[in-house]
Amino acid sequence: MKSIVKNVSWDVALQSHKCKRNIKHTIAKGDRRLKVKEGRNESHYCMQCAETILKNGLSKVNTLIGDI
Ligand SMILES: [Zn+2]
Repeated sequence: MKSIVKNVSWDVALQSHKCKRNIKHTIAKGDRRLKVKEGRNESHYCMQCAETILKNGLSKVNTLIGDI
């Protein structure tokens, strides 16, 4: 079965780095982060952006379901 969220998961930052969505956000070493695979690349997002990204995704899915 095809999943629309197969490329999205949680992982833990092995070192401190900037959030992919907003460079003002810092993900600290050991912090949980949202990992999104895009082709051969992986993007990592802080929890604040993860919530926005996931909620936007859910909203999009709900819109699509509403159009069934
Ligand atoms: Zn962020």
